Amino acid sequence: MFCTRCGLQLRDHDRYCSQCGARTAVGRIETPPSCLLLDKYNKKIAGVCAGFARYCEVDVTLVRVLWLAIALTTGVGFLAYLAAWIIMPSDHGAEARVVMTPSAQAG
Ligand SMILES: [Zn+2]
Repeated sequence: MFCTRCGLQLRDHDRYCSQCGARTAVGRIETPPSCLLLDKYNKKIAGVCAGFARYCEVDVTLVRVLWLAIALTTGVGFLAYLAAWIIMPSDHGAEARVVMTPSAQAG
């Protein structure tokens, strides 16, 4: 293994380059890319609240209640919802495929 910055040869378990301090891939926590997408699988209207809930890893109902409360008290929520609907890309119901398993007990 070699440092990607300075090219120094490193031991396989080195987390940092001893010469330039660059981080290596060792011990790096690989997190799945969490993009802010419309959640078409868990959606009620456009999937905006569900998308935010998934992005922030909070309950979708909490997001909906908060969003509705903000919308009703300030009026900004409605515009923000429309803006998010337009701006946020769709996940095209990507999570729906996870639960679609063929039944092995047919018959
Ligand atoms: Zn280096």
